Amino acid sequence: MFNRVLIANRGEVAVRIIRACWEMGIETVAIYSSKDKESMHVKLADKALCIGPAEAGKSYLEVNRIIEAAKQNNVDAIHPGYGFLSESYEFAEKCLENNIVFIGPSPEVINTMGTNKMLAKEKVKIIGIPIIPGIEGIIKNKEHAKIVAGTLGYPLLIKAANGGGGKGIRKVCRSEDFERNFSLCVEESYKAFGNQEVYIEKYIEKPRHIEVQILVDKYNNVIILGERECSIQRGNQKLIEESPAAILENELREKLFDFSKAIAIECGYCGAGTVEFLIDEQKNIYFMEMNTRLQVEHPVTEFVTNVDIVKEQIRIAYGERLKYREEDLKVRGHSIECRINAEQPEKNFSASSGVVSSLNIPGGNGVRVDTALYVGMKLEPIYDSNIAKLIVYGRDRHEAIRKMKRALCEFIIEGVDTNIEFLLKILNSRKFIMNEYNTATLSEIIYESF
Ligand code: ADP
Ligand code: ADP
Ligand code: MG
Repeated sequence: MFNRVLIANRGEVAVRIIRACWEMGIETVAIYSSKDKESMHVKLADKALCIGPAEAGKSYLEVNRIIEAAKQNNVDAIHPGYGFLSESYEFAEKCLENNIVFIGPSPEVINTMGTNKMLAKEKVKIIGIPIIPGIEGIIKNKEHAKIVAGTLGYPLLIKAANGGGGKGIRKVCRSEDFERNFSLCVEESYKAFGNQEVYIEKYIEKPRHIEVQILVDKYNNVIILGERECSIQRGNQKLIEESPAAILENELREKLFDFSKAIAIECGYCGAGTVEFLIDEQKNIYFMEMNTRLQVEHPVTEFVTNVDIVKEQIRIAYGERLKYREEDLKVRGHSIECRINAEQPEKNFSASSGVVSSLNIPGGNGVRVDTALYVGMKLEPIYDSNIAKLIVYGRDRHEAIRKMKRALCEFIIEGVDTNIEFLLKILNSRKFIMNEYNTATLSEIIYESF
């Protein structure tokens, strides 16, 4: 096994990866920006190196410095976590060039399936998997784009090809708003992702977002670790996730699994990955994108399958064969995750800051909290607003909901405003309880609440 792994990330995911390494007997090297000097991941790692100033572009995204730190410390591999460099094929390539294992798929696969969502759609379409209808190929200019958009019909979405985290997506309802939104999307895309490429998709009304977790080893063994329901979203970003997806009948589920397997095999996938789909009200399935990395919501899958996805990523990267056979894997019970964010729902979800003055982290049977919070921690809205993930496991969905409500009530964070009360509101809503929700439901709940 690897002797030493560098974690190119921060916050709860860095802590999550350090824990897996510790249990596997692997030494860890953390990196941090000057703002994160007192962070939990810095304290928990065997060694930690300051990599630059607060600005992510000069620290957590600084490829050459990270590679240098890895070389100086003789690490065998780098785990990128999620966000930051996790879907950068240039970073994966640099690792390879320097004889460091990148814990993830090959740079080529990241490029076609992860970095550029437009390329991924083209690839998937070739193997006959339904994709969201849209305009194919690179868009030359906005006048041309407007004409083709007319043939697709409104409403439509303009999406950044390299987008992520729900950012770089614009909905356009009328042709007269097209050009303005197109320019804004190109601009945003360049600012946030360093790339101007955008693509256009038909807007699917009130869909469910359902995704499939896959694991593939270097010997082309593919296993499916069930699916996740991620339709509770605000601003195209997930807030609550569940596994299994209670609306799926077996036939639909089988289809999603078959599509995901075909994609994994066709693109030569290796490692942990997620295939994201939208399912419309008529139960049509559309491939949306693939995430060639660990996902924020992976713990719900870990609860229902009892597989440690991070450890499997490390084993696969080391060259081990998957120990599981698909027939051994059974999804049991029900798991739900809530993302606890430092934000003020009543003030249009603006980011909050402060010093954590008191903290009570819930526990008990079937309750998991992944966080890097501690009392005295100074929170500033520099990085992501997510500060903790609360994950519960119950025998069935009903029990999981009751447990989540109990755990949310026990979760106390003082000194910083959070969305905990708001999450409780969602869990108490009829649509959530009855499982009658889609990606538009949360905005309805927000409208009724504020
Ligand atoms: P998931 O798909 O795992 O649910 P999210 O889309 O919520 O993940 O994103 C997880 C984190 O990674 C967020 O902090 C988000 O801002 C960041 N992120 C995701 N994709 C990108 C990207 N392409 N570029 C920069 N940050 C990203
Ligand atoms: P990201 O890389 O930011 O995760 P995605 O392409 O996965 O971007 O889209 C994020 C979310 O935006 C989806 O989960 C879905 O709710 C919404 N979305 C994206 N594309 C469409 C579409 N064509 N129609 C309706 N909703 C969409
Ligand atoms: Mg997505």
